[in-house]
Amino acid sequence: MPTDDMITPTELRQFHYCPRVVFFARCTPVRRRETVLMTHGREKHESELLRERRRALSRYDLTEGERRYDVRLSSAALGLNGELDLLIVNGAKAYPVEYKNSRRPPDPGHRLQLCAYALLVEAELGLSCPHGYWHSSVTHETHVVAFDRRLRNRTASAIAAVRTLIREERCPEPTRRVEKCLECELRNFCGDTL
Ligand code: SF4
Repeated sequence: MPTDDMITPTELRQFHYCPRVVFFARCTPVRRRETVLMTHGREKHESELLRERRRALSRYDLTEGERRYDVRLSSAALGLNGELDLLIVNGAKAYPVEYKNSRRPPDPGHRLQLCAYALLVEAELGLSCPHGYWHSSVTHETHVVAFDRRLRNRTASAIAAVRTLIREERCPEPTRRVEKCLECELRNFCGDTL
């Protein structure tokens, strides 16, 4: 599969937030500008990853494991590529870890993103991912995300839906939750929302 046709776990999360975010990025020349909030979030994310190197594995309920940072993964069979913040490998099992600059617990979009990394790890590294971890850089809480059959199926459906959206280049309906538009940096391009 050509690299341009591959999608990323991040795009699955964006698609869940609002399909138009992916449409603008993939099917139009419109590019998101990094807002002050986004810059702050990115810097916090980077400093949290640096702190992670000094922490014990006990926060993940694991007694041992090798930590691999910024793991690049790609699978033509899945049509996915991306870079994972952290992968903890223990024998034949592996646990993807994502950091987010968010006060809220992981939403369904974050779960899709993390599960997509798990699918990539299983496909490319031949390791089994029973669950992963989602860590808030704001509250410092770590949430366990189980990769059960339901989440795996939802992730596969989301991959197919994003691919269809990109192939058809048809602008999707705006999100029904207008509160999302209030904090969306693309709202100037969505004349039919606010
Ligand atoms: S402004 Fe609203 S409809 Fe438009 S991309 Fe952002 S969230 Fe979606």
